[in-house]
Amino acid sequence: MTDNCLFCKIVNKQIPAQIVYEDELVMGFKDISPQAPIHQLVIPKQHITTLNDLTAEDRSLLGHMVFTASQLAAEQALSAPGYRLVMNCNQDGGQTVFHVHLHLLGGRQLTHLG
Ligand code: 5GP
Ligand code: ZN
Repeated sequence: MTDNCLFCKIVNKQIPAQIVYEDELVMGFKDISPQAPIHQLVIPKQHITTLNDLTAEDRSLLGHMVFTASQLAAEQALSAPGYRLVMNCNQDGGQTVFHVHLHLLGGRQLTHLG
C-alpha cells in the first residue's frame, strides 16, 4: 500500500469499484470513465508506479495480468470479435494514475491508436 494511491485504495477496498475479478495477485474492475462498451482495468495488488519500475521478478506478474485480461475478454464474448490491451507509461504515454494497470477495451470497432 502506497499512501494516496487511488488504485491501492481500490485494492484495499477503501474506495469502491465495480470489481470483476480478484485473486491473490491481481484485481480487475470497471473503468470509471469507459472509452468503449467494455473498459476494464487489471492491476497488480502490489503497488508498482510505472512500467519503468518493473523488475525481473515482476515478469510473471505481468504475464498473469495479460492472462487475466484475456480470460475477462473471453467471459464477455470478446475473443472472436477482438479487443485491445493497453498500458500507458508516464506523461507522453498518457498515464494519469501512477499504479501500473492494463486496460481491456472492447465491444466496438477500435480504430485509432494514438
Ligand atoms: P491511464 O490514463 O493512467 O492509463 O488510465 C487511468 C484510468 O483510470 C482512466 O481510464 C480512468 O478513467 C480510470 N480511473 C481514474 N480514477 C478512477 C476511479 O476512481 N475508479 C475507477 N474505476 N477508474 C478510475
Ligand atoms: Zn498503488
